Amino acid sequence: MIVMKFGGTSVANFEAITRTIFIIGGKLDQKPVVVVSALSKVTDLLYRISDAAASRNVSEMEELLFQLRKRHVDLASDLLEQSPMLKESAVAKVNEICDGLTSLVRAVCAVGELSDRNKAVIIANGEYLSSTIICYAMNSKGIRTNWIDARRMMITKGEYMKGEPVEKEILSRVPGIVEEAYKGMDAVITQGFIASTIDGEPTVLGRGGSDYSASLIGMAVDASRIEIWTDVDGVRTADPRKVNNTKYLEKISFEEAAEMAHFGAKVLHPLTIEPAVKKNIPIYVLNSMNPSGKGTAILRNELIEDGVKSVSFKENIKVINIFSTRMINTSGFLRRVFEIFSESRVSVDLISTSEANISVTVDASEKIDGVVSELSEFCDVIVDDDKAQVSVIGKNIVRLNGMLKKTFAPLKKCNVYMISQGASFVNISFVVDREELSEVVQDLHDHLFDNPEELADF
Ligand code: ADP
Ligand code: ASP
Ligand code: MG
Repeated sequence: MIVMKFGGTSVANFEAITRTIFIIGGKLDQKPVVVVSALSKVTDLLYRISDAAASRNVSEMEELLFQLRKRHVDLASDLLEQSPMLKESAVAKVNEICDGLTSLVRAVCAVGELSDRNKAVIIANGEYLSSTIICYAMNSKGIRTNWIDARRMMITKGEYMKGEPVEKEILSRVPGIVEEAYKGMDAVITQGFIASTIDGEPTVLGRGGSDYSASLIGMAVDASRIEIWTDVDGVRTADPRKVNNTKYLEKISFEEAAEMAHFGAKVLHPLTIEPAVKKNIPIYVLNSMNPSGKGTAILRNELIEDGVKSVSFKENIKVINIFSTRMINTSGFLRRVFEIFSESRVSVDLISTSEANISVTVDASEKIDGVVSELSEFCDVIVDDDKAQVSVIGKNIVRLNGMLKKTFAPLKKCNVYMISQGASFVNISFVVDREELSEVVQDLHDHLFDNPEELADF
């Protein structure tokens, strides 16, 4: 069995879905479990619909609901043009999903209050719509496909909008449900991103979470490989949308991929690697617009060579500077500070300390108001939100001679605020002013990847 996950751009429209179905059709002998995202930009649209409802902006809400319905009805009609019976039932199903969504959104608008629970129900509709349409389209092309509701098998706890998978439940549910759905079929399809609690409460896995769903399902069915189909020819040395002259990486390790994703490379959800590592399942990042390409293989550490693989970066971070003279000669101060982060479930990326100061970086999406107010009870706290974080990533780079010199040599003009190296051997990270980020990243990338002769200096 294999898992094939198709992201938003791979299912964006008629052409993309036709290509995607062709790719799946070529792999039926490997028993694919297909995991799909919402059509490109649909989750953003659903967020906008939620916001319009919460702020009681009726005209915008109705206009966006209309756009959403039209895009999906038109797509289902186009894809199923040749199969009138399937077309009729697919369009009816799309309308049914959109009717349910419309009733809920109007109810939210009537009270002007949006709970996280309702938000999770609203934004899950993108994946319900895409998986329904693609399932019909696969059947119309002769691929007998069964549709699985991900909420029956992806069990999470914690927050509605960022559920934490309950591995034991997922491992016990997924194989049976997939096996049952496969009876008499060529393929099964389910939704990425969406999940539920053990009591059936709706949850989602957080933005970009479909990669994570694919990997969890892969782990549960003991897949021989997990394929992440997207819009680039695999993982590159940096984000090709932001950096020029990036290079294709044929293979990287689980650890390198996890660090890249965690430190800003949006090509994979940061938690995607974890379930795959547990069962040592290779992950392939592939381009649905160029399916004959080799993509990038993400493999176990021993199969990967040492050396720099990537310059990753986070444009939107916050630096929390904590000052206290009580830190001097006081044991337990750090524990108290980090307990506050832990209790508020705020995840810290980089840490540096001096005699009377601790600086930490967190992703800009973290809600830090509670942390700041609790810390302020016993420290002075200053939050900087004009900084960005850069990470050089590669197996054993911290052990390479001259690596720090090579990393910082191109940054002649800019200030570097925090440096972190050594916590793992694969990552050197630092903080710069956000306005310097593009230049820093480009210069650093050029320096590390365009001067192979200099690498010999190490
Ligand atoms: P999908 O909708 O298929 O999940 P995403 O937009 O989430 O696709 O991820 C693919 C995008 O990730 C690429 O278009 C690219 O801009 C971005 N990206 C960021 N860092 C990297 C990297 N190191 N290598 C490749 N792509 C990257
Ligand atoms: N549709 C969801 C999002 O846009 C999940 C995903 O695409 O991975 O965040
Ligand atoms: Mg993605």
